[in-house]
Amino acid sequence: MSVIGIDFGNESCYVAAARSGEIETLANDYSLRATPSFVAFDGKKRIIGVAAKNQQVTNMKNTVGGFKRLLGRKFNDPHVQHELTSIPARVEARGDGSIGIKVNYLGEDQHFGPEQLTAMLFTKLKETSAAAMQTQVNDCVIACPVFFTNAERKALLDAAQIAGLNVLRLMNETTATALAYGFYKNDLFEDKPRNVIFVDFGHSSLQASACAFTKGKLKMLASTWDQIGGRDIDLALGDYFAKEFQERYKINAKTNARANLRLLTEIEKLKKQMSANSTKLPLNIECFLDDIDVSSSMQRSQMEELCAPVLQRVEQTFKRLLAESKLQLDDIHSVEIVGGSSRIPSVKQLIEQVFNKPASTTLNQDEAVSRGAALQCAIMSPAVRVREFGVTDIQNYAVKVLWDSEGSAAPGEIEIFPQYHASPFSRLLTINRKGPFNVSIVYGQQVPYPDQTIGVWKVKDVKPTERGEGQDVKLKVRINNNGIVLISSATLVEKKEAEEAAAAAEQAASEEKPGDQTNNTGEPADGQQEGADKKKKASKATELPLECTTHGFSPVDLSNYTQQESKMIGNDQKETERIDAKNALEEFVYDMRNKLQGGPFERYVVEAEREKIVSQLNDLENWLYEDGEDCERDIYTSRLQALHQKTDPIKLRASDYEQGPAAFDELKNSI
Ligand code: ATP
Ligand code: MG
Repeated sequence: MSVIGIDFGNESCYVAAARSGEIETLANDYSLRATPSFVAFDGKKRIIGVAAKNQQVTNMKNTVGGFKRLLGRKFNDPHVQHELTSIPARVEARGDGSIGIKVNYLGEDQHFGPEQLTAMLFTKLKETSAAAMQTQVNDCVIACPVFFTNAERKALLDAAQIAGLNVLRLMNETTATALAYGFYKNDLFEDKPRNVIFVDFGHSSLQASACAFTKGKLKMLASTWDQIGGRDIDLALGDYFAKEFQERYKINAKTNARANLRLLTEIEKLKKQMSANSTKLPLNIECFLDDIDVSSSMQRSQMEELCAPVLQRVEQTFKRLLAESKLQLDDIHSVEIVGGSSRIPSVKQLIEQVFNKPASTTLNQDEAVSRGAALQCAIMSPAVRVREFGVTDIQNYAVKVLWDSEGSAAPGEIEIFPQYHASPFSRLLTINRKGPFNVSIVYGQQVPYPDQTIGVWKVKDVKPTERGEGQDVKLKVRINNNGIVLISSATLVEKKEAEEAAAAAEQAASEEKPGDQTNNTGEPADGQQEGADKKKKASKATELPLECTTHGFSPVDLSNYTQQESKMIGNDQKETERIDAKNALEEFVYDMRNKLQGGPFERYVVEAEREKIVSQLNDLENWLYEDGEDCERDIYTSRLQALHQKTDPIKLRASDYEQGPAAFDELKNSI
């Protein structure tokens, strides 16, 4: 069994694996390390990754990309509406308000949600990793943007489950990068933290994080981000060229999805060239629209002008990080950059301006996230032996707990985790109640998601004491390994021992050591375990049932989607076998005809028989292009079998005769 780390990017994915003590980025079925985050549907089969992106221009309506940013959201979410302007597929609201991406698959229009499309992509990554590693792949660590909210994280976990992946941890992308950096550094000290800034500027997002490294450990300090990336630069340049073409050629690229896509593809290439070259560079597209060839040019300084608003936001994100991490410029050891768009020279200049350090490229800019995730997976999985490295991540947003009133008991609220609190972590909260009550967990600050609510937990079976007084209910509020916030348990502590239990609970919470959060199972050594022996004293503590409404699919939906995915995997398999059978028959027809007509088999068959077989082969060839174009696998295999029966004796005669003289020579030598 192997362990992998997945960087699920908005534009492309990378998978790394731990193999014999080394971390290796795996190649896919096209021998490439980047797998485009695209899924396409073509009649009977799904096409995923490189092949999907390659056929996008000719199958626009049934090719879907850009779904990472739709995870866990509803159709009418303004963010979704904005994202949809750059997704050419047909997208509708489903009955429950969720996003339904409409594609033609298996001869009918079908809807798939972003979670299902992500699961399809994960299925592909799982298959290509298994092929590269030549072993089953189950355990993984998946990286996600640091700004992903609870709903998006849960949706990503659901997608992984649909694809049959066992996620040991959802890890923030910059934290994965930090691990990929720190793990191999052997000049870190116990008492003198090394503060490093990590900048990841990708296709749709910018993330900047500050991290403190000590010997064998890393601790994230703060993160800032913005939802801008390379695609915003492409769009800004797209607007410019579309306007120019309108004026010069009187054509409107924006009215034609295919032309728009071709323009953006050429712009992306031009943008990459501009990173390496400051001179004027050409942009040419043949037969762009109405058979008109277009040509233009651009140089780096012009691009920088057009993208000034994006670059301004980049600068602000860096400045915010400097302020929020509370680091002085002199405290910063270096600024490491990853992500495709960090190759843009003006972004590197901004780093130098803000942090007073040159941008450093110690890490592989494309592969660092997946490599860090693979390292984390190796550290957590018992299947691989690797040195320990402690990772203390952060909760990116403040979290509040609110409880409702009951009788004379007042409602209340508390900020249970301030922004940038260590994660994973658990805190205990004691509330006195006579009956069942509701507890809500909400974000305590503005988050990039329309609803601030994380979930509502109904605490059941709470009863007053015999004297009619309230009882202490101890809630364990937890940010888990995946950055998901939840109430993991509720315990009723009987009145006479309540004080002791509350004291034990309080002490347990204060004993939590964020720096020692993870052991090799990934579970934090937190309040519950440390408080366990103290709990014995409060032996009348009883676990209360919890009923919760939070993000993610219901178990029934999850099981349906999982079954649907397995069925689609089965279909793809069947379709691949069918096409293979057809190709095998076609190949045999050509090969045998060549051998029988002027080829090596011609002299081993009587003329009448030879003519009969060749004519049959000609008929088969025609059939393959007409009625036989789209048949079941068995029909191709049975036709191939029938051909073998006819032609195998000829082949045998030919090989017997070819070996004949050798056999004769052998006999001669032995006499
Ligand atoms: P995200 O992290 O936003 O989810 P991603 O991980 O798929 O997306 P990356 O692979 O890090 O994104 O980066 C892709 C982006 O980087 C694209 O917009 C691409 O055009 C851009 N890019 C790649 N190389 C260069 C380059 N040399 N110069 C400028 N931009 C580049
Ligand atoms: Mg990325």
